[in-house]
Amino acid sequence: EIWEEKGLMGSSRTAVRSYQHRPVLRFDGEAFRLKRTGELVRALLVLRLCAWPPLVTHGLTLLSWSRRLLGSRLSGALLRASVYGQFVAGETTAEVQDSVQRLQGLGLRPLLAVPIEEEPGTDRGGEAWYEGNLKAMLHCVDLSGLGGNGQGPHAFSSPQDTHERLTRAAEEAERKGLGFGVKLVRGAYLESERALARERGTADPTQPDYEATSRSYSRCLELMLGHVCRRGSQCQLMVASHNEESVHQAVKRMSELGIPLDGPVCFGQLLGMCDHVSLALGQAGYAIYKSIPYGALDEVIPYLLRRAQENRSVLQGARREQGLLSQELLRRLSRSP
Ligand SMILES: Cc1cc2nc3c(=O)[nH]c(=O)nc-3n(C[C@H](O)[C@H](O)[C@H](O)COP(=O)(O)OP(=O)(O)OC[C@H]3O[C@@H](n4cnc5c(N)ncnc54)[C@H](O)[C@@H]3O)c2cc1C
Repeated sequence: EIWEEKGLMGSSRTAVRSYQHRPVLRFDGEAFRLKRTGELVRALLVLRLCAWPPLVTHGLTLLSWSRRLLGSRLSGALLRASVYGQFVAGETTAEVQDSVQRLQGLGLRPLLAVPIEEEPGTDRGGEAWYEGNLKAMLHCVDLSGLGGNGQGPHAFSSPQDTHERLTRAAEEAERKGLGFGVKLVRGAYLESERALARERGTADPTQPDYEATSRSYSRCLELMLGHVCRRGSQCQLMVASHNEESVHQAVKRMSELGIPLDGPVCFGQLLGMCDHVSLALGQAGYAIYKSIPYGALDEVIPYLLRRAQENRSVLQGARREQGLLSQELLRRLSRSP
């Protein structure tokens, strides 16, 4: 009822249900019980492999060696059973549909990611490049029909804003009565952004260190949640982060501000990463989207390597997730309840 008065998003039934049953969130791996044993084993092996820095740095070179040594068929099969299977929804419409259904069965929502790669600052230009991108986007729109029932994939897009720019933009949208949507991400393209700034002789656009980045993320999160609280569904936020602290902060403040679980705030994480957090959020009734890339092996590998480089710290820090996966596998082996 409180939310109805404030005009927050969602039907009054959703609001009341969320208000009455706000669950305590624990990212303790309990949600892994929902996964098949094969999926747990693959996740454990792939996450271990991805925490090995040379694999992420020299991925393409290693791939061409493996093709030369094993042949492209065997090396392709190994990739499909491991990295591709873990992080990619599939190649054909049927494969993507199957992945989407599996996610939905676990309480997760699909967010189709078009695997297009471009270095920041490069000017590729040319009709063929734009035509290629347009084709990929239209294919994504076609696939977006897979979700059905209004809970299907959404396309979000937003720049990586600093607190100041975000404040100005949000206030301007509020003044003009415009809807405002933000996907809040923490850092990206760190090395290339710095190299580009050096080359151009401009100021380094990145934060001085990780702690400063996290402080900025936390302030931006607080700012956006305040706007959501005031403006309801006129303001939408995706907390796109694998960071448990950021997710905890969002969940805690949503509760304090009376923002419904499945309303104008949602969470976003990448397919195959941080599943202990995604599953716990989904099971608790929060709107959690998994970003799912799709496409042929050769097209998706450069995209995956880029994501792995951006998420190097996440992958190296995935020890906790690996521990939770091992714990669940051991529990199944010992058949404890
Ligand atoms: C659903 C989803 C959608 C995404 N969409 C985009 C997108 O559209 N565009 C995009 O660029 N990225 C996108 N990302 C990637 C995102 O920007 C992060 O790279 C990634 O999520 C890792 O951050 P984290 O909060 O999950 O993890 P954490 O481990 O908490 O943070 C790691 C991040 O901090 C950054 N960082 C560390 N030090 C600094 C510094 N000094 N200055 C600046 N940054 C620093 C790193 O580059 C790394 O990205 C997306 C991520 C998700 C989950």
